[in-house]
Amino acid sequence: MNEHDSERIAGLLTAGGMVPTEELGDAEVVVFNTCAIRENADNRLYGQQGRILQRAPWVDVVVGTHAIGSLLDLVRLAEREGPQMDVREYTEVFPSALPAVRGDRHRAWVSVSVGCDNRCTFCIVPLVRGPQRSRAIGDVLAEVQGLAGQGVVEVTLLGQNVNTYGRDITVPGSSRRPLFADLLRAVNEVEGIRRIRFTSPHPAHFTDDVIAAMAESENVCEHIHFPLQSGSDRVLHLMNRSYRQARYLAWVLRIREAIPEVAFSTDIIVGFPGETEGDFRETLRVVEEARFDSAYTFQYSPRPGTRAAGLEDQVPKEVVQERFDRLVALQEGISLERNRALQGRTVEVLVEGEGRKGGAQGRTRSNKVVHFEGEPRPGEFLDVTVTGAHPHHLDARDARPARSVTVDREPAAAAS
Ligand code: SAM
Ligand code: SF4
Repeated sequence: MNEHDSERIAGLLTAGGMVPTEELGDAEVVVFNTCAIRENADNRLYGQQGRILQRAPWVDVVVGTHAIGSLLDLVRLAEREGPQMDVREYTEVFPSALPAVRGDRHRAWVSVSVGCDNRCTFCIVPLVRGPQRSRAIGDVLAEVQGLAGQGVVEVTLLGQNVNTYGRDITVPGSSRRPLFADLLRAVNEVEGIRRIRFTSPHPAHFTDDVIAAMAESENVCEHIHFPLQSGSDRVLHLMNRSYRQARYLAWVLRIREAIPEVAFSTDIIVGFPGETEGDFRETLRVVEEARFDSAYTFQYSPRPGTRAAGLEDQVPKEVVQERFDRLVALQEGISLERNRALQGRTVEVLVEGEGRKGGAQGRTRSNKVVHFEGEPRPGEFLDVTVTGAHPHHLDARDARPARSVTVDREPAAAAS
């Protein structure tokens, strides 16, 4: 979401006649796009918007997430009248409706909703992004079609809770609410788009129609980000997450049955207030059983204004660190095992560019990074044979033009 906002900020300034500089020192305007989700990121630039002007008098403009569209006007106004601030509480223009300068010509973010109606007790998103607001399905499709026309082959649909997309709007000319599954199927029909991803769904809203739309839409990639947060029922309750361990694991199983090649990633918070060793072991148990392909692991950080920040029983830093290290070690082993299972297989990669290992780097439909020998030609679809596995990437050889968009799915007979 933040990267997407940055592309829009760059797009707005460029549309206003500015040009990017190679050297930071040459720039007349420097934009810091801060993040309030976790304290670490927040601390990097005194994230609390209102206080920035006091703590950093050299700042000319403070702009909140809902007011990005006004940035250029504010910069111009600041030149004439001094420091400006716009931290309004409501989005009038979807970030995706603003011009963009994209870092990648072949892959693009498309926001389908902003905000969130849930109240997870650790999360600041509803406070900073407000209630969920969905974008009209026609607007999303028009943007995706426009992107395809510019050579984009992969889109990632963005929302804090993508799978409740549509519950706050109606289909034009009817009282029916568009569903996320409808959106997936519609984007699947856009010519030129060969890969569709989305993030983040809430596990509790991952309904059968979404699973069916994924399974039946050949361009929707076999990757699901499925945030667990905690494996302990007691902690899930304290977090105000509506599912429990058993339901979560049942969903993972059901999705794997419908989409056999699916890769799962997740988010896990360690050290939520009151988390005991027993609670943490429940998280390890779910991680063992779910066998995620990868996990984003976070140490809990209290966010101002959230319910959990006021809870007593904050877990001491060294205990959090020790649990965190155990979780990371367990997950790395599982990630390695999942990646090893691909050795010898042919996978389709979309080339992203030069790899850290000297050759090229691409990504599978299941969202795994692959390093292989060859010319890094971004945007190209290749088939490669997996030769090596690591927790966070694969090695491959024999790059050749891709046969089809679904090559890294198992043949149906082998999958059943
Ligand atoms: N909407 C997604 C969901 O329902 O799971 C999550 C979006 S949130 C912006 C991204 C991730 O940041 C969360 O899944 C959570 O693991 C992590 N996160 C959010 N607040 C946090 C906090 N206070 N401390 C640590 N991690 C946090
Ligand atoms: Fe935050 Fe996600 Fe919960 Fe919404 S569903 S409050 S974005 S963690």
